[in-house]
Amino acid sequence: MTAKEELAKVCNLVYEKGYVAAFDGNLSNRVGSNRILITPSGKNKGEIKPDDLLLIDLSGNTIEGDGEPSTESKIHLFGYKYRPEVNAIVHAHPIFATAFATIGESLNKPVFPEVVLTLGKVPLCKYATPSTEQVTDSMQSHIEYAWAFLLENHGAVSFGKSIMDAFYKMEKLEHACKILAIARTLGRERQIPLLKLKELYSIAESTYGINIHPKNRMDY
Ligand SMILES: [Zn+2]
Repeated sequence: MTAKEELAKVCNLVYEKGYVAAFDGNLSNRVGSNRILITPSGKNKGEIKPDDLLLIDLSGNTIEGDGEPSTESKIHLFGYKYRPEVNAIVHAHPIFATAFATIGESLNKPVFPEVVLTLGKVPLCKYATPSTEQVTDSMQSHIEYAWAFLLENHGAVSFGKSIMDAFYKMEKLEHACKILAIARTLGRERQIPLLKLKELYSIAESTYGINIHPKNRMDY
């Protein structure tokens, strides 16, 4: 499968999963040191085909393809600039994650062990006017460590080492937010106790070789 085919497939998946409506959302994949495949603006992600995708450089110039790059290209260029290990970015408006972003709540507390290890802290980025540099400014203080971000009154962003990784991180975030929302109709979630949390990090490091950025840890 080519990079374009894979990115188009994930675009379709994001729409089928209900993470975006109408023309919402944008996805990209780093394909070279100064080359990014990105979705065009004004297209439904369920209908994206490989040839609809645009090739741009890290300054946002279109190298190949018809149409305008996503209006949120700044989020993508920002992510690739600051995080060399990030090769794919998904921005979407999943219902439960966006609901948390709308009540102004971050996901910084240790509740689900796999979320602690795969996403770590999911910060809330203050409300910013879409498509402007305000959005990347709101992400700036979290850019060095986070794999997923909540954008206040807007949606979510996930980073990945590959496009499937970025998709799975968005799926994980939405799944966690959905469980939390339902848990709160029944009561209040309990957090993982500090000692158990330290044990979890130590097993993750020693057994699975997972290396977590100090600022992404929840045990301090
Ligand atoms: Zn958006």
